[in-house]
Amino acid sequence: MSIKSKLVLVFLVLTLTACVKNPVTGKKQFAVMSEAREIGLGASYDPQIVAEFGLYQDSILQNYINVKGKEMAKISHRPELDYKFRVVDSPVVNAFAVPGGYIYFTRGIMAHFNNEAEFTGVLGHEIGHVTARHTAVAQRNSTFAQLGLIAGMVASPQIAQFAEPLSSGMGLLLLKFGRDAESQSDELGVEYSSKIGYDAREMSYFFGTLNRLSGGPEGRVPEFYSTHPDPLNRKEEVSHLASEWQEKLHMTSPKVNRNSYLQMLDGLVYGEDPRQGFVENFTFYHPVLKFQFPVPNDWAYQNSPQQFQMAPKDGKAMMLFTLAQGESLEAAALAFAQQYKIIATSSKNVTLHGNPAYELVGHQTTEAAQGDIPAGTPAVGVKIILISYDRLIYMILGAAEFADMGTYIPQFDGTMKNFKKLTDPDKLGRLPERLGLYTVSHAGTLESILSQKGIPVARHSEWAIVNGMELSETVPTGTIIKVIK
Ligand SMILES: [Zn+2]
Repeated sequence: MSIKSKLVLVFLVLTLTACVKNPVTGKKQFAVMSEAREIGLGASYDPQIVAEFGLYQDSILQNYINVKGKEMAKISHRPELDYKFRVVDSPVVNAFAVPGGYIYFTRGIMAHFNNEAEFTGVLGHEIGHVTARHTAVAQRNSTFAQLGLIAGMVASPQIAQFAEPLSSGMGLLLLKFGRDAESQSDELGVEYSSKIGYDAREMSYFFGTLNRLSGGPEGRVPEFYSTHPDPLNRKEEVSHLASEWQEKLHMTSPKVNRNSYLQMLDGLVYGEDPRQGFVENFTFYHPVLKFQFPVPNDWAYQNSPQQFQMAPKDGKAMMLFTLAQGESLEAAALAFAQQYKIIATSSKNVTLHGNPAYELVGHQTTEAAQGDIPAGTPAVGVKIILISYDRLIYMILGAAEFADMGTYIPQFDGTMKNFKKLTDPDKLGRLPERLGLYTVSHAGTLESILSQKGIPVARHSEWAIVNGMELSETVPTGTIIKVIK
């Protein structure tokens, strides 16, 4: 964390500390934020989170979590808050809450629940973070990861400076609560889901799913798991608490609602969505915006809604692709150069695969003398290309140490000069995988049923996790299971 942000946090603590009553424990506690501040913060994060991930376009699912969320909020310790419940368009398995009552579930986690009771347990856990004011407390301790994966690989901050910093929306995903806060949220999750009639023991089975996912394939790394303590300990604890609450509330037949939950998942987008761009054979394809460009061999890359970033494994350079703003290509290039104090050494209009473009090569200089190096010495080399395509202006930027530019310019050019229209119908028509349902007609092992439904052997264990079952398990006739649609 930079010195500047430390100062900001100290400032927050000094000015916003107030003694308030904790809604769950009833005890007085020092909170960093007043309730009004908490609500204001949530309201300012929410549009950033929605912009970062997008809302998942499915009114049935959005309506479902809203109805269940409101029902549970009513019996919670802070029923007066104006809660918002959203399903965001991300394949990552996660759920998170931000101050003020904003609660998010990814489509990835929705795909992995196998009944309403599992979902309501996690819903209760997230509402618990809000009612016990954990988010407000965690705000004080959190060290937001500064940058994304690629920027993290690039050793030099001078080179990484152009990368979009992790937005606060992404930072919130990485918030960590203490072990005590997590245990308390588990307890509240059990209490709240029991109070609206669900079998909270199911929540403990979901911890089993999270545990299995921790060894899962890339792109489905469960953040909910990684930011939370040992799922197997929690599994036991939750199961125990669930029985206690069922006794206390005299629940004779707590709800699980497997089939009605699964019905809602029919057609759910599963895994990465290629319509948001994908890499294949060292090429980035965007089927919706209809363009493509090469990614240098052996470079790592990261796709986010704002930027596509690339870097060699040694982290000595980086390239990024993003949208640019400006009245014209030249104006956009000059505005960028001015913003980053780039001294242009050459600039010209060019045409790339029929598209008007503008290229600018330049460098940033050292601002102050560093040892023997006088101020004003070229430090970071930059090459940018702005391309006018389909009524938008795109920018591809390459940056490296000034001395290394000779090495990297050919690699930058390989990407920049090969930006072009995507015409390959196979890439244009690429659609995401979707989750489908199958009612088992003859009892058999899950493994045999997955084979029958055409799921490749290499993906059997993945689909066993999605179904919350073991491959060797016998699935009775009439059971609905999740398959690839
Ligand atoms: Zn939590």
